[in-house]
Amino acid sequence: MAYQIASGCLGCDNCRPQCPTGAISVTDGNYWINPILCNNCEGHYNEPQCVVNCPTGLPAPYQARKGRTKIIDTRPATSPDLFLNGKNNAFASAIVVWEACNLLAQRLSLSWEEDEDGKLSYRRAVFQGRGLITLRMANSLDQNPPQALTGKTALEQIAALDIRAACMHLIYAAHATALDRPWEQEFTISDQQIEIYLGLDKRKDLSKAAKLTLIKEIALQPCLLKTVITWAQQGRVREFAIDKSRLWHMVDVQHHLQADEQGCQHLVGLTFKVKAGIWAQYFLNRQDCKKQVAYYQYGTLPKSLLTTIMGIWQQHEGAARMLLWLLFKVRMGKEQRITIPTLMRVAYGEERLSQAASLREDRKRLLRTFENDLAVLHHYGLKPVFDPVTYPPEIQPLWAKLADLPEDADEALDFWIQDGTCDTRLTDCGPRGKWNLLMNARILWFDLPPDWEQATPGGSKKRQRKSTGNQESRSSRSRSRNQNKEPYSTPANLSGEQIAAARKGQGWSQRDLAERAGKSQSWIRDIENGRFQVKAADQTLLRKVLNLG
Ligand code: SF4
Ligand code: SF4
Repeated sequence: MAYQIASGCLGCDNCRPQCPTGAISVTDGNYWINPILCNNCEGHYNEPQCVVNCPTGLPAPYQARKGRTKIIDTRPATSPDLFLNGKNNAFASAIVVWEACNLLAQRLSLSWEEDEDGKLSYRRAVFQGRGLITLRMANSLDQNPPQALTGKTALEQIAALDIRAACMHLIYAAHATALDRPWEQEFTISDQQIEIYLGLDKRKDLSKAAKLTLIKEIALQPCLLKTVITWAQQGRVREFAIDKSRLWHMVDVQHHLQADEQGCQHLVGLTFKVKAGIWAQYFLNRQDCKKQVAYYQYGTLPKSLLTTIMGIWQQHEGAARMLLWLLFKVRMGKEQRITIPTLMRVAYGEERLSQAASLREDRKRLLRTFENDLAVLHHYGLKPVFDPVTYPPEIQPLWAKLADLPEDADEALDFWIQDGTCDTRLTDCGPRGKWNLLMNARILWFDLPPDWEQATPGGSKKRQRKSTGNQESRSSRSRSRNQNKEPYSTPANLSGEQIAAARKGQGWSQRDLAERAGKSQSWIRDIENGRFQVKAADQTLLRKVLNLG
């Protein structure tokens, strides 16, 4: 239980230096205890030191502030809100941002190496080893330059990272795209903005103090990452090296207080001033990108991704990790083939995967978890398209096979009758050796929800101008071109009803049409139900298959 200081404080400063957690501060001449930091001296002393050292015994157990918190006018102005279209926002998606996101999401599951000084590092080679991105944990938020943690301390710090800090990292990456020179300019975010971005404003089960505690904790964690980058020359972009730089600088954290009737100061708000590290000068530099001497790399951050991660991180951490990884991966083009071992490594780590390879019970458990986590992605709108050769229906999860179940009762009956005549039924257990088959299986791509479609910084129509030159950006550009070539259908195009009528006119089931069109049955069902619009190329295909001229 935290303590608080009521009115009558003499300002003698006896308590502040004695507090083992640094919870006592002075703001505008008022002494107050930060309930986020105060832990009742637990683990340090038997008695609260602020009470013991106070000449008037003023500090008393914390009482929650009653009534709604009024918005304080004196709070500093914040940067413009994100997600103005209600769906998505551009965000810096350079490889260093991706790797930092992986670190925050996968933590100790990544392969960490100790260098000769004992500094623990996570490394990712780029350009076939001609470049290297190294991430480390910094020893403090304010030491400049930050020192990397070593050995056990570093491991403890990594283990203490919260996957929800990856959401804050993405929020920072989105704010950075709104600035011309993000490595020099700060952006300011309030707890109220963060609450909305993360969907915490809908959480009635959390008190204001609990929300502020969580926000502060996860807002600081991305700022503990330290980057070291060596980059090889690529086109007109010269080789460069970044040493001992923070990924994000926490320039200032402001605590906003309000006094209750007893004069106790309560924390009612937080404001964070953040600045991107020097990496942004190379990877998020609009001006130099025009001259082709730096990169300007961005992707689309769907708001729904943040709220989903905040909702599933405890029950489905594997799905949360996959979602965060796929956010960057799918930029690489729709036709990306992703192997199942790669996805499992992202979701559960190499160690768990190796364990499952040798222990049957672990294997069964991991398989069940993986299929459930894939179902979570599917439910969220990220639909895996299984490779029919390496990931055939026999080894697909049951939920995926049932996704093709027609909604129409008669068609559903036909579906089950037809299934009953097959050698293997949908509901049959997986074949022997399913694990080994899965270790060679691939997902061809993920169909994406509409809010994953490309957003641009400042809402302009401009496309990404300069690529890293690696496959990621080339594919991204080609995907953008494809998107341009395939505008969504106009009202003159085939509607869902017309497609359904033409199909029935041919005497075909949804499954028949799906087979003829080379699509999944769920895709046919969705377009017939008008769940999404059909792109021009698919309109042409359907007209051809349905003989509609
Ligand atoms: S109870 Fe202990 S931790 Fe809390 S403010 Fe007082 S001295 Fe600090
Ligand atoms: S709370 Fe007590 S010890 Fe702390 S400054 Fe006020 S009077 Fe002094």
